[in-house]
Amino acid sequence: NGAIAFKDVHFAYDAARPILKGISFEVPAGKTVAVVGPSGAGKSTLSRLLYRFYDVQQGTITIDGQDVRGVTQKSLRAVIGMVPQDTVLFNDTIAYNIRYGRVSATEEEVVAAAEAAQIATFIQSLPEGFQAMVGERGLKLSGGEKQRVAIARTILKAPPILILDEATSALDTRTEQEIQSALDVVSRNRTTLVIAHRLSTVINADEIIVLKDGVIAERGTHGELIDRD
Ligand code: ADP
Ligand code: ADP
Repeated sequence: NGAIAFKDVHFAYDAARPILKGISFEVPAGKTVAVVGPSGAGKSTLSRLLYRFYDVQQGTITIDGQDVRGVTQKSLRAVIGMVPQDTVLFNDTIAYNIRYGRVSATEEEVVAAAEAAQIATFIQSLPEGFQAMVGERGLKLSGGEKQRVAIARTILKAPPILILDEATSALDTRTEQEIQSALDVVSRNRTTLVIAHRLSTVINADEIIVLKDGVIAERGTHGELIDRD
């Protein structure tokens, strides 16, 4: 479960400039839907409305038929996992950063998640910046390694819903492909909303929504959208 439905969603940060002007689409349980569109199109705003960082001004967003406005942000964060563009690490060990996904997890579960994300070798290290304060150097993680920490955190949390918000867009092409394959594994059979600015990064999505000027300009599978070009 975890089916998401956006119905006639309207939103403006500033009443004079509507960002979303009647957006309707569904992410069926276990499926992956990607929202693509130019920068500023309102893609991230859609995800912020889903976990109630802001609330819709007209229309509804439901999860398994329930209006999210009847659910607390805390409860929503318990069922929604998120991999952002740049993962910001807490000033504690990598293991602690992974455990943040589910604080009740056992040490074995943390290690298993780290192994699945291929970062098991350095989970007892502190990220750069923390040890620096006490005169030592922390471990400098690459962008790809930080995304692997976010992936391990998500594996541990195992949320029914996953938001991938430009999760690979800060990475170089080779690292992007590696992290994309890891994300494909994590999102399999999980209700996933992918936010991306290029069609080429969402080839495997069950449906792609193209957002433009506050409305859905086009929708279809990757193959269908490419054919129409
Ligand atoms: P995208 O993810 O497609 O790049 P966003 O959803 O982040 O777009 O933003 C959509 C528009 O809303 C942009 O023009 C952005 O500048 C504006 N915006 C985003 N967040 C805020 C905010 N907190 N206050 C005012 N305007 C905002
Ligand atoms: P930004 O505008 O920087 O993308 P958002 O407004 O989308 O940020 O969200 C604020 C921060 O809250 C995000 O950077 C993310 O780290 C965190 N966050 C968002 N959703 C979740 C979630 N479901 N669980 C935990 N943290 C989240």
